[in-house]
Amino acid sequence: MRDFQENSDIFNLLSEGVSEGIIVVNANQIIVATNTSSLQMFGYEKGELIGKPLDILIPRRYHAGHDAHVDNFIAKSDKRQMGHGRNLYGICKDGKEFPVEAGLNPFEFYGATYVMALVIDITERKSREEELSHWARIFDESLNEIFVFDAETYKFLNVNKEAQRNIGYSIKEMYEMTPVDIKPEMDISQFENLISPLLKDTTSKVNFETKHGRKDGTTYPVEVHLQLSNLGDKKVFVAFILDITERKNYTENLENLVEERTHQLTEALAVEKELNELKTRFLSLVSHEFKTPLSSILTSITLLGKYTETEQQPKRDKHVTTIKNKVKYLDTILNDFLSVERLESGKVNYKIEEFPLSKIVNEVVYNSNMLLKSGQQIRYPENIDELNIQFDEKTLELALSNLVHNAIKYSPEDSTIDIKVDIKDIGYAISVIDEGIGIPIEEQKHIFNRYFRAENALLTQGTGIGLNIAKQHIENLGGSLEFSSTESIGSTFTLCIPKLKTN
Ligand code: ADP
Repeated sequence: MRDFQENSDIFNLLSEGVSEGIIVVNANQIIVATNTSSLQMFGYEKGELIGKPLDILIPRRYHAGHDAHVDNFIAKSDKRQMGHGRNLYGICKDGKEFPVEAGLNPFEFYGATYVMALVIDITERKSREEELSHWARIFDESLNEIFVFDAETYKFLNVNKEAQRNIGYSIKEMYEMTPVDIKPEMDISQFENLISPLLKDTTSKVNFETKHGRKDGTTYPVEVHLQLSNLGDKKVFVAFILDITERKNYTENLENLVEERTHQLTEALAVEKELNELKTRFLSLVSHEFKTPLSSILTSITLLGKYTETEQQPKRDKHVTTIKNKVKYLDTILNDFLSVERLESGKVNYKIEEFPLSKIVNEVVYNSNMLLKSGQQIRYPENIDELNIQFDEKTLELALSNLVHNAIKYSPEDSTIDIKVDIKDIGYAISVIDEGIGIPIEEQKHIFNRYFRAENALLTQGTGIGLNIAKQHIENLGGSLEFSSTESIGSTFTLCIPKLKTN
């Protein structure tokens, strides 16, 4: 064995010049020569391996398989690479194992067969490979979509599995495409504008939102995180894509919900405001509108107590009338307020009945008589004696008495108030005509607004509620309330009641 190395200067010369480990074994797998690289690789001193079986360099668990393999190999006298397709390991003197790749070269020397094994320590390559496959796995298994494309041609170079799945194109199809092809809302110049800061190196990352178009024509919103990177000597863009469909839906739903809630809140606030306003009005009504009638009731009662003589009856009568009038007035405004509340809360129940119109007109006129100023008179309609109508009696009484009271209130002494009824095919028009102060033309458009009172009416007591309520009730029942008026001449208010049944 020693012979081999001693007799082969040429071997020594050649083997020392290569970086691979060289080990020569004879037909019995006994080591007959080694070079320095192999000694370093396996941790032995020069000459230490000569005469040792090759097994000493192979981990025990591979021995059986290996011997058979080499014997077979020698028998075939083949030249071949070992370690391809399977993992080969060497073992150092200190027991440390390391991955190797070995090439076996059989040859004849002085009539004997030898095998020269070229051994390469592939520890580093293996770990590099492992690292690469680790990154490749991350790339492919990532739930984010990852697209890699050429920085010059923009053509895709790699697209991970999730991206292929979501976009619907195969990797082959994608090799022929660029990012612009899958961005329906973006043209090439917009895209170049976006990536130019990366190419100019003014930023290291570009983020933006856009849409991706799938092969099947559908689209989905995405968030793109773009970076420039090097692949060998090539510059490539790496795009991490987040499908933000769910986030978008969530945000959209949230926005809709906020809008809806804001709307509800605004409505609730408006109702609240209205109620507050009503409360304020009521308080001011109580403090202003109640004060005057109450103090005149008080005065009349005080005076009543003083008129003890029999002949003072007319004076007593006058005060009793005043008291009655004032109480009636207080009753009316309280009813008006209650009516507002009922209308607001939708708690009104109407009852449509048939009744003679004259009954209501008589009642209203009778109740109004005590409000008449001196010399005022009310003229009855002449044509209603036999007239029956179908309507809610209470509503008609409320509306008509409101109109008649206003006519009295806003007309001077010695004036006439006419009540006229016009019988038409579709219904009845009941008009209350006065010769009073009228309504200034510029204020006429507000007259049915709740709490509105015309400038020329402010010296007369009132709340601005009556007409508003009357109109709402009448309209709720399919009728209407209109007026015409000329300041200082007079007003005509007309209630139209629909005919529900033919008489
Ligand atoms: P109020 O009479 O209590 O103020 P109304 O709602 O009945 O409330 O009337 C609203 C306003 O319409 C009155 O303040 C007044 O300015 C005007 N108005 C109503 N009827 C007449 C009328 N017959 N003549 C003149 N102005 C009227």
